[in-house]
Amino acid sequence: MALKPRILIVEDESGIADTLQYVLATDGFAPVWASTAEDAIAQFTAERPALAVLDVGLPDMNGFELFRRLQALPGGNQVPMLFLTARSDEIDRVVGLELGADDYIAKPFSPRELVARVRTILRRSARQAAESTTPPTAPPTPAMPAIAVWALDEERHQIRFYGKALELSRYEYGVLRLLVQKPGRVFTRDELLLKVWGDANDSFDRTVDAHIKTLRAKLKLIAPGLEPIRTLRGSGYALSEELPATPA
Ligand code: CA
Repeated sequence: MALKPRILIVEDESGIADTLQYVLATDGFAPVWASTAEDAIAQFTAERPALAVLDVGLPDMNGFELFRRLQALPGGNQVPMLFLTARSDEIDRVVGLELGADDYIAKPFSPRELVARVRTILRRSARQAAESTTPPTAPPTPAMPAIAVWALDEERHQIRFYGKALELSRYEYGVLRLLVQKPGRVFTRDELLLKVWGDANDSFDRTVDAHIKTLRAKLKLIAPGLEPIRTLRGSGYALSEELPATPA
């Protein structure tokens, strides 16, 4: 039998930590609990977990700072991390700061939902690890002329807008890539969640909206007067087909 994946739970509320440990253990994981950031760093250093669940509100350090500290440890950037947040402004920070965390769960949450998320993230990171070891087969995409409104370079995970390379987080890239490939086509939130995040869950509509918001802000820096991503009320998002040849 395969070794049980070790899941580090960093949570100062013992009630929540107990529940999480119980559901994770029931589901075939090996949970370890740290009630403080200091303890979490010690546990992480002692044995690198398969995944870490970080509460944002910890007594000795906030979860964002802890995330950065863990990422800086040897192999830390290969461990998927999931934030537990109690407030919506924390969710905005998770997305807005583009920490590169793999996901978040808003409190109160259902323990089953958390286990499902943990499974999805571990599946996804296993897939990505497998992909990154596959040698590239196709030659690099030739550079598109600078005047192209959009230029997608899938090899480099890069998108240019009016010739300017966008600095995108993983999920922003995933969303914009889909839109750019099919201008005018409407993507629903569920569809984007499924295709970019790997699962569809109604309670995470906010994730899509928050990423569209940060994407729009980045596009605005290049073309302040344009609205390249259209919102279709009640249905979803689409890339505008009516962009001028130059941004000004
Ligand atoms: Ca807390």
